[in-house]
Amino acid sequence: MDANIINLFKISKHIVFLTGAGVSTPSGIPDYRSKNGLYHRRKKQKRSAEWYLSHDCLMHHPKTFHKFMVKYMYHPQAKPNVIHNVQAKLTRMGKATIITQNVDNLYHLAHADPQRLIEFHGNIYDCECMKCHRKVDWRQYVKSPVHQADGGLIRPNLVLYGESINQKKFKRSMNVMLNADLIVIVSTAMKVEPFADLIKYHQPNVPIIAINKQPLHFSYNVGLIMIREDAVKFFSQLALLN
Ligand SMILES: [Zn+2]
Repeated sequence: MDANIINLFKISKHIVFLTGAGVSTPSGIPDYRSKNGLYHRRKKQKRSAEWYLSHDCLMHHPKTFHKFMVKYMYHPQAKPNVIHNVQAKLTRMGKATIITQNVDNLYHLAHADPQRLIEFHGNIYDCECMKCHRKVDWRQYVKSPVHQADGGLIRPNLVLYGESINQKKFKRSMNVMLNADLIVIVSTAMKVEPFADLIKYHQPNVPIIAINKQPLHFSYNVGLIMIREDAVKFFSQLALLN
């Protein structure tokens, strides 16, 4: 690993990790937007993954929504990998905050400091009845989307297509970004709005590293240090330094 990059990780006190699906694919969770992901596999069928994961589908076709969630989104056997573990350790050291698009709970399983973890699109292992607003165990939800107590519809806490991001969460993310002295984009194409917009919020001259196999393109000028390396390899090397 480049000595300048190592030094950046050593001297920075407020690292922000912006992460996406590629962080969890080594844990066996498919990325439904990637080439080999669900979206493309399902293209032959009538509907896209985006349709199944929409507010309309949840409200108007709750059984279909539930079936899709259970079949493709829940991977309770998945374990965090070295990327989650190294980033989580840095949160526990008070050196980093993670802002992730992933809804798979793996940063919690890696014991990330919950005060330093922003699950931008929610967490599907956090479920609630839409009628009584009580929390429901995800195992119950996986069995049935109907709350036994009152017949209400259970939903997982994730931001669906057609729903907007909680403003508080966006503001909190913005503030974390503005306070960062190193920004590290990991395994995400930075294409989903408004997550991708977060990159606009940083102090001038703050180094921005992107660890992604594919090059990233932004509609505005972002001075990136591009590392086109496998994130597992990168974080395995970083783990040896701590
Ligand atoms: Zn209920």
